[in-house]
Amino acid sequence: KPRVFSGIQPSGGLTLGNYLGALKRFADKQADGIETVYCVVDMHAITVWQDPEALRKQTRELTAGFIASGIDPEKSILFNQSQVAEHAQLAWIFNTVARMGWMQRMTQWKDKAGKNAQNASLGLFAYPALMAADILLYHATEVPVGEDQKQHVELTRDIAAKFNHDYGVDFFPMPDPVIEGAATRVMSLRDGTKKMSKSDPSDASRINMTDDADAIAKKIRKAKTDPEPLPDTAKGLEERPDARNLVNIYAALSDQTVDTVLAEMGGKQFSEFKPLLADLAVAKLSPISGEMQRLMQDPAEIDRILGRGAERAREIATPILQKTYDIVGMIRS
Ligand code: ATP
Ligand code: MG
Repeated sequence: KPRVFSGIQPSGGLTLGNYLGALKRFADKQADGIETVYCVVDMHAITVWQDPEALRKQTRELTAGFIASGIDPEKSILFNQSQVAEHAQLAWIFNTVARMGWMQRMTQWKDKAGKNAQNASLGLFAYPALMAADILLYHATEVPVGEDQKQHVELTRDIAAKFNHDYGVDFFPMPDPVIEGAATRVMSLRDGTKKMSKSDPSDASRINMTDDADAIAKKIRKAKTDPEPLPDTAKGLEERPDARNLVNIYAALSDQTVDTVLAEMGGKQFSEFKPLLADLAVAKLSPISGEMQRLMQDPAEIDRILGRGAERAREIATPILQKTYDIVGMIRS
């Protein structure tokens, strides 16, 4: 039976990248009638420092973002990771399965640890083992993510395969990364070769889901581009990362292919295209940010939704963790 799992870190405010690469597609999955499990991964967020009060606020805001993007907490299971202790418990088992060399090859580790890796947290290094636990705890088969998380889902498959092999079982399924749409990798507005991220220190690099119309228009107006007009086909965007990024965003927001967008927009200057993109972004994002603001007025209700989601998550996770412990040889009495 297919089951979808995915998560987002409450490590800051949601960006347009999170929306197009993840949230928008989470809601589509739910509409397909598949069982969907969505997680606010607070334990991942603290692999880099988070102020406790900010973490609480970001967790509630992200939950509001899920719901405002169309995740129905009755249809999907929506909860925060730390309320289901099985995630940490299975992650420990996987810490003993995964190899140091596998972790060292992860590009997210290399990017986030930077030059001063000796000072990065041990949790940041082990991040992919916790992510494997998130997915495999539900025997999830599909993992909708942005392009940047593909490597971690592949590592999850390696962990599942090594566990099954080492213990001589056929217990964990091989999950598939599902990377679809015109914006699987939304780039920074300041540098078309760098991913847009909620944790980027530059606010001008990203569009936040909570930005108002003026802020969105200003950031798009200032977005880096080149002096050439828009080409007629997608091929003309090769070697033009900044231009390509803006066209990809337009295509994803309007549910069109890049070629369809360029058939209409080809030949226009960016001075003409950018205001059209800004209007489109405002039209798509403002209903969502309005709904997020409304939901945020009742934090107790958000906490109740997370608690109820955690109960439902545990119904799936507890038997799978127990079976894992049995396979490994842990006594339960
Ligand atoms: P951080 O900077 O803290 O890592 P983030 O913006 O990368 O934050 P995550 O919580 O790490 O967000 O990722 C949540 C989901 O959003 C993942 O599926 C990830 O692949 C997707 N995602 C993140 N950034 C982008 C992006 N720029 N384009 C498309 N998808 C993205
Ligand atoms: Mg990230």
